[in-house]
Amino acid sequence: MNMILKRNFILKKKFLKYRNCKKTFYLIINILIIMTIISFINPLSQESQEIVREYGNLDDVFEENDTLISTIFKIPNQKISDDNLIPKNLGELAINRVKWYIERKNNKEFNIQDYEYLLNEKITNYDVLVFHLLSQAIAMKFNLTSRETKLFIESEAKLVEERLAKIPPTSRSEILDSVLKELVDDEINWKSLKDLIASRKLSLTDLVIDHGEIVLEKDDFIERFSDDFKDRSPEKMYDIIIGDNVKELLLSRIIMQKTEDYIKKIKEMSSTVEIHETVEKIGEELAEMIPEEIAKYSSFYGDPSGGLFGSVKIGKLVKEAFPPCIANTIQGVSSGGRNDAIVLLLTSFASYARLYPGIFASDEVMKVSDIDKNLNITENEILPLIFEAAQNCSPPLFDDQPQEKINIISKLGFGMHDEVHIENEGETIWYTPMSCEKVKIHLPQLCKPDKECKGINNPLSCYIRKRNNLEKGSSK
Ligand code: SF4
Repeated sequence: MNMILKRNFILKKKFLKYRNCKKTFYLIINILIIMTIISFINPLSQESQEIVREYGNLDDVFEENDTLISTIFKIPNQKISDDNLIPKNLGELAINRVKWYIERKNNKEFNIQDYEYLLNEKITNYDVLVFHLLSQAIAMKFNLTSRETKLFIESEAKLVEERLAKIPPTSRSEILDSVLKELVDDEINWKSLKDLIASRKLSLTDLVIDHGEIVLEKDDFIERFSDDFKDRSPEKMYDIIIGDNVKELLLSRIIMQKTEDYIKKIKEMSSTVEIHETVEKIGEELAEMIPEEIAKYSSFYGDPSGGLFGSVKIGKLVKEAFPPCIANTIQGVSSGGRNDAIVLLLTSFASYARLYPGIFASDEVMKVSDIDKNLNITENEILPLIFEAAQNCSPPLFDDQPQEKINIISKLGFGMHDEVHIENEGETIWYTPMSCEKVKIHLPQLCKPDKECKGINNPLSCYIRKRNNLEKGSSK
């Protein structure tokens, strides 16, 4: 007990105040519950680190864990009729923790009860462990700016938000204060928030600022602004303007930042430590699961077995038919070839593959709007795919070169503008797909020919061949 009290100043004060009263026993229980919730909200807390230290052996992470299964079975509102929803071991729990976020974000029919266990503090110890396993796996397997790393960091913030929302209002403020106090050693000020603001995880408009100082506490707010509210109670105005909402936002963003810093630190140390095979396995499973899950909810792609089109008819992009150079570009390109891969290779490929795959079999010169009359496909399918690939680059292409958006628009034939507008069409030409020869010269790192590249001289022709093969395969 002493160990716990030492770690939390607020709770210690409370305990000392009440230790002689009859309610001490219940108070201790209450303290322990709060301590559990703190670890559940902040997997980087001292208590959480203690949980990780105590676990020790990683060899059984992928072995069936009866206690985990029965804990999840007992969680109120958890859907248990579908056995596939219940993770059977810590490895599956780790993968589901990330899958939850992809589904939460994209699945319009998301059922909260499928993953109810992720919001229940009964799984705290398991959850803390898998958070640390995931951080290691992400750090070892992916770049810091990769889609996978960003996804994991965002998922942590979303989990924090949803877990906080489940805490009864009576104890939420106390927990918020305790977690914030532990996360930010000093008081919350510009210095403690500078990384969050610089990385745009937090905007200045999210905060109340007075004379250059961040106002967060009720007393401070009332002292500064009580004269400004003539007809309303300053206490009520505090609840509306700041209250728990701003603290919750701050907390989730600080945990996001700390998670990113933690992954960075693991990465820096990775050359000097041996990776446990369990961590490696989690990394491999994430690398497989994330693109599969994202593709499931992407509106860019069609069904590979859909039979929507003939040899060169138009139809939704079929991701499974992308040649290796395009699949590699979509996963993200490092700084060396980023611009050419996105602006020249992918922009022309995606637009012709989606709108005019028969270009090489025809003499007709076409404009994008000849096929996509109101530019709906261009705006809702082609550009989002290109922009997502640009974001997957390391570093993300538009972060340091936002002007490349204009170059992409120009390669679609819509002039040097940052959006596609029909009245600008024709100011530049619709750039035709790059040949394999050019890819091999300018972007050799992306050309990893497979058997369907044989005898092909353009990635678009390779795409059509693969797409036809997929159709044939599905009709057998
Ligand atoms: S051979 Fe052509 S289609 Fe195949 S990966 Fe290389 S550039 Fe792409």
